[in-house]
Order: sequence, then structure tokens, then C-alpha cells
Amino acid sequence: MFDFLDSKNIGKEYGGFVLLAIDDLQDYKSKGVFMRHKRTGLELYHIVNDDRENTFAFAFRTFAKDSKGCAHIMEHSVLCGSEKYPLKEPFITLASTSLNSFLNALTYPDKTVYPGASVVRADYFNMMDVYADAVFFPKLDRETFIQEGHRLEMDENGKTSIQGVVYNEMKGNYSAFRDVAVDLQIRSMFPDSFAAYDSGGDPQVIPSLSYQEFLDFHQKFYSPDNCLLYLHGNISTADQIDFLNERFMSRIEEKYGCKEDVKNFDSKLPLVKPEVRALQTIKPRTESCEIRELAPETGSTGLIVTMNWYSGASDIEKYFLSEVLCGNDSAPLSYKLKESGLGDDLSPIWNNFGQMQEEFFCYGLSGVKKGDEQKVYDLVQKSLQEIYDEGIAQEDVDSAVMGIDFNLREVTRYWGPYSLVIMEKVLKGWNYGKECCDQLDPITSFENFKKRLSQDKDLPRKLIKKYFLDKDVVVKYVAEPSADFLKKRNDAEAALIKELDAAADKEQLKKDLDQLHAYQQHVETAEETECMPRVKLAELDRNVEITPTKIDFVEGADGAKVPLFINEEQTNGIFYVDVMFPFDRLPPSDYRYIPFLSGSITNMGWNGQSWDDCITESSCVMGDVWGRVCTGAVSDSPDCRAIVEKYKDLNVIGRKWLGISCKALTSMSKETLDLLAKIITTMSFDDEKRFENLLGEMEAEKRASFVGAGRDYALRRTNCLKRENHALNELMWGISQLMFSLGYKDRPAAENLKELKRVYDACLASGGIIHITADKDSLEKILPMMKSFAQSAKISKLLPAENYPLEEYQKLIYQKEIADDPLPQLIKVDSQTGYAAASSVASSYLTKEASAEAVFSSWVSTHTFWDKLRTTGGAYGAGMWIDSVQNSVYFTTYRDPTPERSIKVFADSMKELAQSGVSAEDVERTVVTSYADLIQPSSPRDKAARSFEGLLFANPSELRQKRVDNILSITVDDVNAAAKRISDAVQSDYKTAVFCDKSKSFSGNIINLPL
Ligand SMILES: [Zn+2]
Repeated sequence: MFDFLDSKNIGKEYGGFVLLAIDDLQDYKSKGVFMRHKRTGLELYHIVNDDRENTFAFAFRTFAKDSKGCAHIMEHSVLCGSEKYPLKEPFITLASTSLNSFLNALTYPDKTVYPGASVVRADYFNMMDVYADAVFFPKLDRETFIQEGHRLEMDENGKTSIQGVVYNEMKGNYSAFRDVAVDLQIRSMFPDSFAAYDSGGDPQVIPSLSYQEFLDFHQKFYSPDNCLLYLHGNISTADQIDFLNERFMSRIEEKYGCKEDVKNFDSKLPLVKPEVRALQTIKPRTESCEIRELAPETGSTGLIVTMNWYSGASDIEKYFLSEVLCGNDSAPLSYKLKESGLGDDLSPIWNNFGQMQEEFFCYGLSGVKKGDEQKVYDLVQKSLQEIYDEGIAQEDVDSAVMGIDFNLREVTRYWGPYSLVIMEKVLKGWNYGKECCDQLDPITSFENFKKRLSQDKDLPRKLIKKYFLDKDVVVKYVAEPSADFLKKRNDAEAALIKELDAAADKEQLKKDLDQLHAYQQHVETAEETECMPRVKLAELDRNVEITPTKIDFVEGADGAKVPLFINEEQTNGIFYVDVMFPFDRLPPSDYRYIPFLSGSITNMGWNGQSWDDCITESSCVMGDVWGRVCTGAVSDSPDCRAIVEKYKDLNVIGRKWLGISCKALTSMSKETLDLLAKIITTMSFDDEKRFENLLGEMEAEKRASFVGAGRDYALRRTNCLKRENHALNELMWGISQLMFSLGYKDRPAAENLKELKRVYDACLASGGIIHITADKDSLEKILPMMKSFAQSAKISKLLPAENYPLEEYQKLIYQKEIADDPLPQLIKVDSQTGYAAASSVASSYLTKEASAEAVFSSWVSTHTFWDKLRTTGGAYGAGMWIDSVQNSVYFTTYRDPTPERSIKVFADSMKELAQSGVSAEDVERTVVTSYADLIQPSSPRDKAARSFEGLLFANPSELRQKRVDNILSITVDDVNAAAKRISDAVQSDYKTAVFCDKSKSFSGNIINLPL
């Protein structure tokens, strides 16, 4: 067996791939294996570790020489059919049928990347198969080019327009002030190079891209010797290479004419083709200047004015400098800029630690008045000089160090698996011919930097001098909102259409378009889509990964036995603590204070200190601290009842919790726990000005998000009288909460603060529990400190809940009589768009019936509702899902032009499907995707939170196995019986609500909203 991690094998070959380097990636507890295929030049970098979610990505260096958007159009087009998969959109088919945890394609200014990830091995290779075929063997038909890129379109009246998926997408990119201002700034910093162009495409330039240029682009950049296959996870390197050889390597050799070994095939560094290298060079400006750009008015609050200094390639020193100057609101530069009153916020980019190799520091303000530009330049320059003269306070240095240490370690899942964060670092090196591991030691290099920092207290000042005061090239940048911006672009588009229209041979055009439309309208048959690989039921792993939560106890205040919940996860030297107090000893009328309280408790200060001092104090010690709410329902299923029984004495199951959570480095555990205890016990409720600010922010946010959250508001109304937890949700997050929170401003701040303090004190007096998530080493260090923490946080004995009857909740519901009525409830506002919501009764949790209903719902969402509500009805989204814990089924639409029609479509569809049923083949496919939903991976923190919170509601992680077993056993008969049950339920119990514009009129009860 070939050992890819044995350095003796360097220089040796496996399956035509030469092993070139093995990197020890300590910061990621992984090894990196770099290989090159001798014959084609394809390079491969495998981050080898025990992650069972495997990720692959095909990456190509792509550089623009204009703003025609070829890279972006290519990114779309290769996914529109290939040699082995000659379908219209294999990508869409794959996305909806695979078990992927991530699948996408991304165009950067200097590369195009095609990543996919899955925890199911067979699925992983299926995706790799489709993607490899797409990037190396795409059809790239003329139809695809004009569909995705641009074309002159003609409607039935002969009126012409320019259309194209990318063309339209990019028109959206040129319509908001901030987006355009930031794009133009980055582009204007690097004239005469690829970075000066829009790799996504400027709609004014896109129509000049020819089909031939498009084909040439693929030939130039999508060759195996310009490709890195990035791999991450626990599937062996050998298996991956075997797969490539079995499916692709000889086909690639043939298509790309690889008759002999590539030159320098044993080079340890990535090979960059000379014609590509010539395009990568980026040239910063060599003289100071001012650049002014116009941008659309939409979303602007004034000018964006910034000062910019080139900084070269990114490194840890520059990262530190930007953090110490502007890392949070109390950092010295951001503080000075904000205090000046010259703008309403910091400029949208502080620096460009983004995607390109060359970067720059950028400081300034947005929302600046015209005429104040020079004042902002002077302010930035003067502030940097002052900070240099005065030096940076040790607390600010500490808080920057703390913030970076934390960010480098926390494993997150913001936009996909964490492996993609690592991928971007690998590509930064690979793209420019540097080692793939060039950027893969951030923690180690920051540790070295910290040593420099401790040896030289003057280092921050020296860095300010080096990067700002001694630099002679300063680019001043202004983005000005212009009412003309969009008008000019629209005029230019109209002129272009006129020109193209005049030149077009209308008969030929009509023929071409008819052909395109026929191609687009063709519905692929089952035989045609059969080529797409699918995971079979038999290939699925039936054993579910369980995340157990351990229960222990510590001695709290007055000898109380405080429950301590522990989750061990690979958190990389970080720990998370939740301290939770029940609020269910209070009457339901007080629950309405909880949402505001949880959002503000860690934002009002503590220990009598000013709010600014509190931010500085917490940012020197913790990654973050925040308030939270945790409520839920307990299922009446026998398994859940057994759990309730098992933990009866603990008094923790099915409670309503107000919590305070924080995250921090284990090395700061003592300081963090001390501060957390201080925050909990000395919370301030006397800063009226701070309270007014928070109230203002909350109200602004509620107003801003109201229309966007319309679907949830409507859905909560449909069942708010049914069960305790439904009513609680309406009181805490629904229209009833909205109406309650409007009342805060009718009372003096002092009175509100008194109420909030009363509720908070009552929660603390009800006792508490603690939850910790950390890795093994961290737990060893932290657990012994928990007793002293529980005592200094004064956590007392947990007292049992007061059980209030459902009527106590119901009488607090806003306009309860309307919720009681069978007619639809109408939430009418000024809104361009609407939402429909309905609910009915479903089977109990953990039953086979519930699983069949879940499969049925998932099928309905992607088939019946997709056709009837999306394609025909014009809604942006539509879905049906089951909450079997609360015996409920829900139906909703999203951005729906005719929501009143949709509530009928929901019910009619159920009736029809009870008759027609679902096919056996569709059931099997849906079972596979429903299974995928149950096993989606999550970050260490989320995994632990889900397990802990599940336990609190008698639904521990172990029960997932039962759900998976149930799902995998579902047959077509089960699903068709589910369809009949739901149809019957909808006939007898069907509650609806509609969120729509005031102008709409149809029958129902209008909820009175004084907004
Ligand atoms: Zn796109």
C-alpha cells in the first residue's frame, strides 16, 4: 500500500500522480499532500484528517482583461450540460437529488472554483463525477451562451430587449450604492490589471462578448495544467486518485492532447503557465491621487470617503494592525472616526483582507456630506498621527490580540463547511505559484507575532509609522451617490438595444429565439435524466452519529446542587458557556418582557461601569457574550415521556429559559468565568440613556424586518391558540409581541427598567443550570473551576415551574377573537409582496406515520408546490413541512403575488394528492433526500447546542437514530396513506393567515395594526 504521509515516498508515483510534498498542518490538526499528474499537469492538494464530511473543489486560475464577464458566464455555462451529462442543467438536478452538504460554483477576480461536500461517500463521488465532467467536458452550446450570457430577446409584439442570466444578475449588482461604491474602489486601486475589471461582468460591457471569445476562454483557462483539485476529509488519497483514473484521466489526456509528461513535473511548487502568469501581475498606483466615482443613490446616506495605503500581500502583522486600530467600536481609530460626527458609520471596507494577493488599508467614513471630503482625509491622517504620538493603550492591544486569537481558532459554518475557509487560503498560495501551505499556519505565525509584541511594546506604533506615516502613496477615494447613475445606464442600454435592433435580421432572430425557447421549455424525460448518478437507499449508512450530552452537578450558592451539562467537541482551544435561568415561575403576562430582556441584558453594562468601559473589558477577555432564550415543546410520544420520567428529579425538562452565553479561549477561562459571574450578578438596570438607545435600535430593526418576516408572523397566527408553545411563540415573537413592545415607549424609561429588573431578578431567584462545550483538554482545565464560578455567579437551587393553563396565555393574544374565527386572518401592510400560511394536524413524533408525512411534505414542496405555486403562481418560494413534536403540519409561500389564492391551492392539492398518490420511484428518491436533511453536518458549537437543547425538551441526540430508521423504512404505501391523513386533517381543521398589501381585498378578518 502506498503511504501518502511517508516522506520517504516523496518523488514516487501513485496512479500517474507524483507525490511532491507532505505538509504538517498543525494549526488544523491535518496533513497536506501535494501531488501532480505527470501527463496532464493536474495538481491535487489533499488536506488529510478525520473529518467525515469530505469536500472537493476544482479550481482554475482565471483572469479578466475586460469587464465582459467571461469568467462568470463560463462558471454558469459549464454547469449547463456536459459530455456524460447532456442535460439542460445537471447542476440543478444534482443539487436537488444529491445528499450534499454544500454544492456551488464561485467566480473570484483571479480564479473560478467548483466545490462540493457530502458526508455520504457514494454521494461525494457522484458529485465529483458530475463536476469533473462539467469543467473538463462541457457542451458550451451556443444556446447555453446566449441563455446564460446575453442575447437580443424579442417578445410576441416584436419589442426587443437584452436578456441573459448573468446579464440580469449583474444588473442587480449595479443598483445599490454600497455595493457599487466598494467594487469601484477595489477596481480603481489597481489600474491596468485584471483587478481593474469586473470579473462578474458589467452589463454595459457584457453584450460585447462574442461566442468565440467565450470558447477561447475555456480553452485558455480550463486546462488540466491550470487546475488544482482541492480535497479535504477522511476519504483516502488513494481512493480519490483511483476514482479519477477510473473515470477521467485518460479522457482528459485525450481531449487535451497530453502526449508526453509535462515539463518540470517534479517541481515542488505549483506550476503556472507563462500565458497565465503574464495576466496575474497587479500594479498598484505609483503616485498619490484622488479618485471620484459615481454610484446609484439607492441605499446611500451620503458620500463614502476613504484614505488608502497599499500594503502588499496579506500577513498576520497587517491583520493585527487593522484589528488594533478598528477591530471594535472602542478601538482607537474607529472611535475617533465615529466621534467626529463627519459621517454616520465607518466606511464599508477597513482593509482588503479579501481575495486578492495585493491588498490595501482603507479607512474612512460613509454618510459624509458633500464638501466635507477634505475634512475626512485630514481626520484620518490626523487620527493616525495622534494614535502614533500617544501610543496605543495596552487594553486596546489586548483586545485586538484576543479577537484575532479567537477568530483564528473558532471553527464556524457561515457559508458552508469550514474546509472552504481553508480552501481559500490554499488557493491564495497555489494561484500565484507559491506552496499550497503558504497561508496554512495562521495560529503559529500569530504566536510568533505575539512574541515580537511582548518583546517590543513599541511595535504597534512602529507599524503605524511603517504602513501609514512613512508611505508616500496615498489614494483618496470618494464615492458619490448620483440620481443620474441608473438613468445614464438605462439610457445607454436603450441606445444599445436600438442599435442591435436595427442591425438584427428579424426573421433570423425569431428563428434563433424559437429554437432557444423550445430548448428551454423542453421538459426532460425520465430516460434523459437517468444518466445522473443517484445514491441508492442501500448505499446509505444507517448508523447515525450521536452527540451525547453528559450531566454532572456542581455546588452553587447556599450548597445548591446545580446541574452542569457537558458536551465534548473539537473546539480548538475554545470553550462556550451557557448559564440559564427559568422564567416559567413568572405568569405568562411577564413572558412578553423576555425578548427585549434577552436582547439587551449583556448590552446595558454592569458593575456600575460606563458602557464603553464594559465593551473594552469584555473584548479583552472573551470572544463574545450575549443573551438568549430557549423554549420548546415536549412531545407526548412514549420515548419522550420516558425521558421526562428519567430526569424528573432534575426539574430541567420542558422549562422556559432566559440565558447568558459567552465564548472564549481556554487560556482565558479564569478571567472569562470571573467576568461572566460579574456580569450576571451586577447587571445594570439604571442607564436610561442606554435603554432608550437599545429601544430605538430594537424598534428600527423590527420595522425594517417586518415585511421580510411576514411569513413567520402569518404562520404564528394560524395556530396561536392551539397549544401552550404555539401561544408562547406568538406572545414572544409574533404580532402580539410587536404590539406589546410598542408599549415600551409610552412609559418612562425608569419604569421600564424597573419592570425588566423585576423579571430578571425573578429569573435568577428561580435557580439555574450551566452548559459547557469544549474540547477534551479545555474541559480538564475548566471543569475544576465550575464550583467557584457557580458560587460567585450565585446560582441557586432550581425551583419547579408554575404551570399556567392555556387560557392564561390565550387571553394575552392580540385580537384573540380573530384567531378564533375560521376565516383567514389578514395582516395588511404597505408591501409589494405577500405570504400565505396555513396549518393543520399531523401525527406524533417518532411514529412511522410522522416520518411518512415528512417524506410526503418534502415531495410536495419540490413537486406539486413547485409547479403550482412557483412556476404557475409566481411565488418565489413555497413549502410544506411537519412539526410532529407539536402534531402540526404547515404550508407557506414566500414573496407571493396572490397569497389568497395559495391558501386554497394548499388545501386543493392535498385533496388531489390523496387521490392520485406519489410514485414508488419518487418516494425512494425523496426518502434519500429526507435522510440527507437529518444527517446534515454542523459546527462543533451547533452540534453541542442541538444535543443539549434537545435533552432539555426530552428529545436527546439518541432519538435521532430512531428517526433515521423510521425514514429509511418508509414505503410508497406509507406515503400515500400519509397523503390521505393530511387531506382529511385539512378538511376538518385548517387555519390560515395571509400577509399582503393594503390594497388587496378578499374575505377574512383584518388584524388591526397601528403601524
Ligand atoms: Zn452568477
